[in-house]
Amino acid sequence: MKFIDEYRDAAAVRRLAAEIARRVTRPWTLMEICGGQTHSIIKFGLDELLPAGLTLVHGPGCPVCVTPVELIDAAVALALRPGITVCSFGDMLRVPGSRLNLLTARARGGDVRIVYSPLDAVAYAAQHRDREVVFFAVGFETTAPANAMAVLQARRAGLTNFSLLVSHVLVPPAMEAILAAPDSRVQGFLAAGHVCTVMGLAEYGPLAARFRVPIVVTGFEPVDILRGVLECVEQLESGRADVTNAYARAVRAEGNLHAQRLVREVFTTVDRHWRGLGAIPRSGLGLRPEFAGFDALLRHGIPDTTPGPETGCIAGDIMRGNAKPHQCPAYGTRCTPEQPLGAPMVSSEGACAAYHRYRRRPPGG
Ligand code: SF4
Repeated sequence: MKFIDEYRDAAAVRRLAAEIARRVTRPWTLMEICGGQTHSIIKFGLDELLPAGLTLVHGPGCPVCVTPVELIDAAVALALRPGITVCSFGDMLRVPGSRLNLLTARARGGDVRIVYSPLDAVAYAAQHRDREVVFFAVGFETTAPANAMAVLQARRAGLTNFSLLVSHVLVPPAMEAILAAPDSRVQGFLAAGHVCTVMGLAEYGPLAARFRVPIVVTGFEPVDILRGVLECVEQLESGRADVTNAYARAVRAEGNLHAQRLVREVFTTVDRHWRGLGAIPRSGLGLRPEFAGFDALLRHGIPDTTPGPETGCIAGDIMRGNAKPHQCPAYGTRCTPEQPLGAPMVSSEGACAAYHRYRRRPPGG
């Protein structure tokens, strides 16, 4: 298949792994940002091809994983209210809230529907004007344009029964928070290619310069990922800290200007609480005041969005690069995909789900 086979070519993967091994002279720790990259790395065993001392740690780029407990609780509360339909992507349904998840809310009579696009939720609202329809708008810069489009379409269609429960987060502020932590081990980043497809490269220059870390825009297939690793290692070994694009077939330096305009029209930057990582200033998107009528929290009056209690899940340590999933005491025992204790075990992009699916054993296990 074009654009797949050539990026999964075993000979090319072996060549790149050998080149990386040739270039590495000392230990380095790199973080891949995106959960999709994590899944590729674990699925294809790419980390096991790397030389000893070159460590890949798994970043916070799983939107389901970082959606705060209090917004899961808000979604559950909305779903249990008569007259309200909550529309969500499927992998949000089993993410634990502080008491219930959306799947349990549905079992208790709540109206929760799985959709594949926010525009499906807009269409549902248009067909069911007697119901209030809330779309759970979760995601990074990648999904924000489609959610902005949904709001604009709903406004154009004169819908007064459609709103968003917004949990949008932004990648660069999270990278900054990780690098600024006193115990940070991260020496280089594989930036998320799809986020850069939308946002371009401009935001990364100041981060690379301030923290002296290479930031390499990287794709998702094995050859893409090892090219990103090689570029990162070459920079580290030669003392450089640049922003480079190793995913040029999808990413342009300026990003997608039309998508950026859409996002700016509907959303503004806000402080955001990240599950596992805590509060990060100016790390999220919220609806602009002129779109307040589409804000589900304002519209339906659920004011309690204070952080919920922690569950003993060490996802925050994992997403900061300070632990691996199979080092969690609950991994595969108290926490499984069927009975998740934390979101990364149940999200399709979660690091713990990747380790579990591809049968990574606990150390000594
Ligand atoms: S294994 Fe479960 S409890 Fe442990 S970090 Fe992952 S999601 Fe959290």
